Amino acid sequence: MTALVVAIDGPAGTGKSTVSRGLARELAARYLDTGAMYRIVTLAVLRAGADLGDAHAVAAVAKNADLAVGHDPDEDRSYLDGEDVSVEIRGDAVTKAVSAVSAVPAVRTRLVDLQRTLAGGQDSVVVEGRDIGTVVLPDADVKIFLTASAEERARRRNDQNVAAGQPDDYESVLADVKRRDHLDSTRAVSPLRPADDAVVVDTSAMTQTEVIEHLKRLVRERAGAQR
Ligand code: C5P
Repeated sequence: MTALVVAIDGPAGTGKSTVSRGLARELAARYLDTGAMYRIVTLAVLRAGADLGDAHAVAAVAKNADLAVGHDPDEDRSYLDGEDVSVEIRGDAVTKAVSAVSAVPAVRTRLVDLQRTLAGGQDSVVVEGRDIGTVVLPDADVKIFLTASAEERARRRNDQNVAAGQPDDYESVLADVKRRDHLDSTRAVSPLRPADDAVVVDTSAMTQTEVIEHLKRLVRERAGAQR
């Protein structure tokens, strides 16, 4: 198969990361996790002690942050100023603050530019995020939008938390899922929504292996139809 650009968007808890990595592996493609990039900037903002409600202060930190992400689907690597922050960006503090930081237009402008550069090149790439098919890469060969009910996404996240040794707290996880959905879908810049030409896949009743197989078929069909 010739080089392909695959955009995968959707809210948190749809299995998007695992599925995107799995698909990249199957296609022998690079993988770009744009959520990790917003998380790195958020960590920089928190470390700088900037006020999350002050868009100018947040934008100033984002402008100067030196961030880098790996592109191997089998390795989750994120760097801030050369330091490996892969674990820290998945922590609670960053997760709680990231929606506010990613709503700042100057943050998005900088990261979208960087994402377009990173997605360029001769080889295939799977790019995962919220606005990849709509804003970052509107000419992607294949656009997929993953969904699942808020309850199912909260259940999956809560199960992950419990497996990681955190307390079982479905109700507050569900409240957080709904809060993030609301912030992400109502923000003025790049709200979360499927591109007009995206294939919407509801993963509520599917295993991750089933989703990856389904996406592989979609990529083959769509890529084949274009060439
Ligand atoms: O994918 P992940 O949950 O790590 O993304 C963290 C946050 O980054 C999202 O909740 C969203 O606010 C933001 N994000 C975004 N645009 C993207 C990717 C992530 O606004 N393309």
